[in-house]
Amino acid sequence: MPGPRGRLQDNPVAGSKKVLLASPRGYCAGVDRAVIAVEKALERFGAPVYVRKQIVHNIHVVTELESKGAIFVDEVDEVPEGAHVVFSAHGVSPAVVGAAADRGLQAIDATCPLVTKVHREAVRFAKSDFEILLIGHEGHEEVEGTAGEAPDHVTVVNSPDDADTVVVKDPSKVVWLSQTTLSVDETMETVRRLRERFPHLQDPPSDDICYATQNRQVAIKKVAVDADLVIVVGSANSSNSVRLVEVALEYGAKAAYRVDYAHEIEQSWLDGVETVGVTSGASVPEILVQEVLEELSGAGYRDVEQVRTAEEDLLFSLPKELRQDAEGKRDGRALGGRTRP
Ligand code: SF4
Repeated sequence: MPGPRGRLQDNPVAGSKKVLLASPRGYCAGVDRAVIAVEKALERFGAPVYVRKQIVHNIHVVTELESKGAIFVDEVDEVPEGAHVVFSAHGVSPAVVGAAADRGLQAIDATCPLVTKVHREAVRFAKSDFEILLIGHEGHEEVEGTAGEAPDHVTVVNSPDDADTVVVKDPSKVVWLSQTTLSVDETMETVRRLRERFPHLQDPPSDDICYATQNRQVAIKKVAVDADLVIVVGSANSSNSVRLVEVALEYGAKAAYRVDYAHEIEQSWLDGVETVGVTSGASVPEILVQEVLEELSGAGYRDVEQVRTAEEDLLFSLPKELRQDAEGKRDGRALGGRTRP
């Protein structure tokens, strides 16, 4: 919920005050697609449309969609029989798909295609009887969905320390996969420690940590070196937003905080701060970043410099259930369509 604007006082510091604004930041192609999917489902089928779990991990996005008629539930058994349900960008296991079908639900699958890619890898390696070490956070929806593709073959590895103790049946036939939103550096450390113990460990066919997660981490690394303070806009349950705070601290920011809204910035964070780095997680609408910039402007940080480390132009098609309008014509918003910073 947005708070009052202009609360921060102009704070005197010896040098010149400025903002380094990381780019890319904010919405990725998978989040854009998932949010549009819920909006389109509401337009097409009318409210309410049910959504299993948060469509993306951002409280502002969820609240906005609720105000338009989306109802978020934890499990499909909370959805009335026959109703429309959207599966979130984080993906679902085959068990969830089956439970929805058993209830006669009209499912719309907004799983990010880059998460689906990891699901397919899990299925393929399980078919070849590999043991899959899935690097990711136990209990995260994406990890549950991927593990659910091959529950008898997957073991979740939570951290580099877990790599030292995980047990496998056959060290000659083991592969690692990962959650899409992890810290690249920490994941590579986990892989290094796994490989020390299992020299035959196979790599995934391509990067599982997605382009958006990687690009946002590269940008904040460049910003963090010169920042006294980094502010990451994103929700507490957003894995990639939380990783951005960690990466900023690792790469030289003197302090780093995550906020959902501009009004959460505390005056004391700005004490002695000349340069503030700003970024946002992949599920964060740009308006929330602009509100942070406004708030910082009120405290004297009016000079904003973009630090761009990559261009992004990826767009995904809408879920197939939404690609055609009621008259059977291809929908004009079938391909994403929002401007990304
Ligand atoms: S963060 Fe990556 S995997 Fe997740 S929705 Fe965005 S593009 Fe897809």
